Order: sequence, then structure tokens, then C-alpha cells
Amino acid sequence: MRHKYFAWSFDDGLEQDKKIIPIMRQYGMGATFHLNSGLYGDKTYEGRIGNLGFTETPAARFHPKAFHLVPYVPHFRIPEDEVVQVYEGFEVASHTCTHANLARCSEEQRRAEIGNDVKALSQKFGYPVTGFAYPYGAGAKESRAALQAAGVAYARVVTTDTSFRFPADPLSMPMSSWHLSPKTFERLNAFFQADPGEDDLFFLMFAHGYEFDFNTKESNWDKFQRICEAVARQDDVICCSIGEAFRMHREG
Ligand SMILES: [Zn+2]
Repeated sequence: MRHKYFAWSFDDGLEQDKKIIPIMRQYGMGATFHLNSGLYGDKTYEGRIGNLGFTETPAARFHPKAFHLVPYVPHFRIPEDEVVQVYEGFEVASHTCTHANLARCSEEQRRAEIGNDVKALSQKFGYPVTGFAYPYGAGAKESRAALQAAGVAYARVVTTDTSFRFPADPLSMPMSSWHLSPKTFERLNAFFQADPGEDDLFFLMFAHGYEFDFNTKESNWDKFQRICEAVARQDDVICCSIGEAFRMHREG
């Protein structure tokens, strides 16, 4: 019997996750949260153009008057002493120690950014961290050896693939949709109607919690809730973390 899996993927370990998690619990959603172990409690503001965050300004240098031309939302990371409690019941995965652009790192830096983050998160959360998301979606080609050395089994990039198949290369795993895409519901409906046939199907929804604060037509808290509602209505879709989807897919 083939199955359909649905997982959310959130990056950066943000304060908005505290608002996301109760909604996810309400709708029985599963998710993987990609954290930077070297940036707990870090505070910046994220400016947007359209629906996309494009620049971060440290909170210490942020003055609303100086930034009045560009809409900004808080990009505050959860402090270290709160993370274990906040993410209870959800998968935590790596996003490098310091949100490094891995395409611009030396091999030594890549091994430190990935290896030390996986180790720190595994220690803190008490289970082996095996998931990863590339900051800025960059460096998949260059990071393969460092990811394998750290025991990473799957790593998310930021390209989109709507075949709803498990990725041929788990270390370069595309998303099925970024929640803020105008095509999100169209893609969801295609997934809901798809017949797994010979192989399992997998829908990976990508988001940053701060994007819901944009409050634009395509990126807002109401849309987040409507996505959860639509997925929860599907009796044949299994909601889980990315790691659980891979495990269940592997074990059949
Ligand atoms: Zn990130």
C-alpha cells in the first residue's frame, strides 16, 4: 500500500514559531524546524520587497524612522534556554551554526558549520539530528562530503519540484511549494487528487515564520491556517516531519 506524506519545513528558529506550533497542533500538522545553534536569541529585522524578505538589519541598528520606506518585520530567534520546550514533539534539524552561505565557505568552514551545528543540536535535543536546510539555498554541490561526514540524511534546497515524489537525491531535496507562492493551493489540490500509484508521494511546504507577519495577499497568518485546514481535511494524507516521512517511506 502506497502513502501520501505532507511535511512543513520552517527555517531559522524564530519567535513566530511559538505562534505557529499551537496552530500546527490544532490541525495535527507535522514539521521540521531548521535551527542555527550559533545564533540563539539573535535579533534582526527583515525588510521585504513584495512577498520576499531581502535584507536583515540587526535590532541594535534598526530605527523605524530610518527604515520607513521598506516594510520590516521582526526576525528574532528563540533564546537557547527556551528551544527544547518550544519544539517539543517536532523535528529539529540543522541550518548551519551561523546561517553561513556554504557556497562561499572553504571546505574546513563547511565541515565546521555543518558538523558543529548537527552535534550541538543533537546534544541539546537528545536525538541524532539527520536533517538539514541550506541557508540561502546555496552550496548543495560543495557540501556533500561535509553533510555525509556529519551523518545528514536529507538536505533541503529552495528550488521547487511538483512531481510529489521523494527526491532522487536526498541531499538536494526540493520543496513542493513555498507557502507564499500564488500557486500553493493549486499545487495542494493536485497533490490531494494525485494517486500514489507505484510509489509514495511527498509534499514539502517551505516557510519562514516571519513571512506570515508580512500580511500581504500571499503571505499572512490566515493563509497559513487555511493551508493547515485544507491538508487536515485529507483523510489519506499523513502529516509528519521530513525525517518521519523518509523513515516511513523507507520502512514501507
Ligand atoms: Zn535561513
